Amino acid sequence: MSSLIDRARSLDEKYRIFNALTHEEEPTGRGLLKGYAVSVKDNVCVKGMVSTAGSKILTGYVPPFDATVVSRCRGQGGFILGKTTQDEFGFGTFNVNTTKIPLNPHDPARSTGGSSGGAAALTAVADFSHLAISESTGGSISCPASFCGVVGVTPTYGRTSRWGLIDYANSLDKIGCMGKTVTEAALLLRVISGPDEFDSTVLRDPVEPYDEMLDTSIEEVKVGVPQEYFGEGVDPGVSEQVWNGIKRLESQGAEISEVSLPHTKYSLSAYYIIAMAEASTNLAKFCGLRYGLHQPLNGNFDEYFTRVRSAGFGDEAKRRVILGTFTRMAGYRDAYYLKALKVRTRVIEDFKHAFQDVDVLAAPTMPVVAPRFDEIAELEPIQHYMMDILTVAPNLAGIPMVSVPCGRSVGMPVGLHLMADHLDEARMLQVAHVLEVT
Ligand code: GLN
Repeated sequence: MSSLIDRARSLDEKYRIFNALTHEEEPTGRGLLKGYAVSVKDNVCVKGMVSTAGSKILTGYVPPFDATVVSRCRGQGGFILGKTTQDEFGFGTFNVNTTKIPLNPHDPARSTGGSSGGAAALTAVADFSHLAISESTGGSISCPASFCGVVGVTPTYGRTSRWGLIDYANSLDKIGCMGKTVTEAALLLRVISGPDEFDSTVLRDPVEPYDEMLDTSIEEVKVGVPQEYFGEGVDPGVSEQVWNGIKRLESQGAEISEVSLPHTKYSLSAYYIIAMAEASTNLAKFCGLRYGLHQPLNGNFDEYFTRVRSAGFGDEAKRRVILGTFTRMAGYRDAYYLKALKVRTRVIEDFKHAFQDVDVLAAPTMPVVAPRFDEIAELEPIQHYMMDILTVAPNLAGIPMVSVPCGRSVGMPVGLHLMADHLDEARMLQVAHVLEVT
């Protein structure tokens, strides 16, 4: 039988999943993840393994340390297999803004979704026990999970440590999990959650054994269906599958009602202003002197800085540096950045209000199934952003969410998105598990 690494390599040849593969031996220790290969999105640092976050500017960067989520997995006997492909720094929805574009295993002419595309593709095709560490800022776990037909969990903001994450937007970034089943994703969540001495922003609330809490009835669980999430732009084939899923929940005893999240239509602009403002500040550290891409040292610092960044950043990263800097500039800050923060507060209030009446919200994860690459090539940047309309609001609010496969349209997987109040991961996953087994 071929080794795990050989199997991973052959999957990579087919679907372009990995930016790096391990040279380590499988561990012999015990723990909750014994027997599991754990893949790590490329923006999460793994000691001794090239970590580029999908960017040329980090060419050859080898972190001298493990991110906390990675060392937790090692501590539970997990085998750190490799780094999965992603949009550059997480900037994208289709995983096409990158040094290596992964292919959707259900149809290689289509996108895996982004930005955690390699993680989702591998989760879909792995013929060995596998869990994926992924990360979301505005939908990067849910979107590829939906397009590739796997389970993707984005936890409450602050549930998991961000120490060792190559950050995109600090007020939004969450490290999360993918698995073939809800139980497997829940197991990984249990392992990587909880306080960390290296990241003081992590919530101290106790971590529950999510994977052991799934076999329970959802009788009388209140499921809200936000009317704004089935509006214009949502493909009818996607809506139909999601409604079938919601009806399955009803047949298992859940109480279904319609709710409203009135600020949904403003969430996209607010998200892109906040995310880009934070991204442009974070990207300032990549100056090509200490690590990553280098250029011949001549000229003054500004000339060097410009040259190395022009060569190292892709088009989307450059666009975000420009837009993110613009919205923070004197004269524009009030009109854009500060206004976006106010909208964010309204979006958070929408969810708080909804969770007074219901336990979880159910909606389509994405408005469409995975598009083909030739369709994506026709889209303007703004049309890429618009595809995130259903995932940015819960990400702005920092609430947990899970995308679960609920059917197929035109032969491609459709994801149903469940969202819950802060730290209500256990109940959210219980509902997701019912969808999976009924
Ligand atoms: N598509 C969104 C963006 O480009 C979200 C990506 C993410 O969550 N990293 O910002």
